[in-house]
Amino acid sequence: MKKVCPTCGREYTEIENYCTQCGIKLIDAPNRCSEMKTALCKDRIYPADAKYCSICGAPTTYAKPQIEEFNRW
Ligand SMILES: [Zn+2]
Ligand SMILES: [Zn+2]
Repeated sequence: MKKVCPTCGREYTEIENYCTQCGIKLIDAPNRCSEMKTALCKDRIYPADAKYCSICGAPTTYAKPQIEEFNRW
């Protein structure tokens, strides 16, 4: 699970706690469309167990690492 700065939107790994730009505490990144193929994707936030974007069918950001792992086989 990634973390994100609520102010500038920079992404961090889960071991990091503060934004290097703003000094603000990071929040858990929401589960979103990983490819943002359409303008509608940007506004969608999915439950943590959702695996695919309901707009364009791309994997969500939470599910993407698992799906890529699976596809290697
Ligand atoms: Zn920031
Ligand atoms: Zn999408």
